[in-house]
Amino acid sequence: MRDVADTITAREAVSLTGTDLHLSFGKNHVLRGVDIQVDAGTTTTVIGPSGSGKSTLLRVLNRLHEPDQGDILLDGRSVLQDNPDELRRRIGMVFQHFNLFPHKTVADNIALGPRKLRGLDKDEARAVAMRQLEIVGLTNKADARPGSLSGGQQQRVAIARALAMEPQVMFFDEATSALDPELVKGVLALMADLAQEGMTMVVVTHEMGYARNVSDNVLFMDHGVVVETGKPEQIFDSAESERLRAFLSQVL
Ligand code: ADP
Ligand code: MG
Repeated sequence: MRDVADTITAREAVSLTGTDLHLSFGKNHVLRGVDIQVDAGTTTTVIGPSGSGKSTLLRVLNRLHEPDQGDILLDGRSVLQDNPDELRRRIGMVFQHFNLFPHKTVADNIALGPRKLRGLDKDEARAVAMRQLEIVGLTNKADARPGSLSGGQQQRVAIARALAMEPQVMFFDEATSALDPELVKGVLALMADLAQEGMTMVVVTHEMGYARNVSDNVLFMDHGVVVETGKPEQIFDSAESERLRAFLSQVL
């Protein structure tokens, strides 16, 4: 796997800030005033029980849902007045289910975004795809169909697809939760590489080892609020709140 440094340091890392974010679905007040500060080039891991609002937070931060209240800033500037498509180009997202197009080759799956959204021609988009495949260690799969790859390889393709848009920030939402245990490591290693090379990242995960070792900050959510946030050592070794201690005792 080639190092990812040149792809990331070619651009300036940017910070991401969410302040007092609120969102309700009908009567369900899902985000109840969430603050998140991700400094440029750092990784924040979001942990918390199922239903606590972690996925919704990511979806509000890239405006797949518009917040009812609060502000979102990239590089210190509010993005709420911008075209949401522009914001989503700046934030790459990787989900639990990779949603690759089954009838397109791996390279075509990656080239699609750069062609459609970055306006590259066919050859340029192919070159971008091949470069991203090199980074995720899958050049030999360029012309394969996604279905012939393992889940871990498909998730690395999904990461390559996101990186091909040259995002300034990467979101991961339980990117390894659907993978067989033996495939998790390769995907986490790739995510750790990205973090190491200075990508600004927000990672929702149940992988507490990853959260402890790779994050700069950990944010613990419960019932739509940030109950506790801090450095990994603080969160995992000296949790202050009873709710966080109870959560950790269940997952560790
Ligand atoms: P988590 O990712 O922490 O498991 P979610 O953000 O998915 O939690 O969900 C938080 C709450 O928001 C849950 O009560 C869920 O049912 C609700 N919710 C999430 N997405 C939607 C939606 N699109 N429409 C209605 N309710 C939703
Ligand atoms: Mg979720």
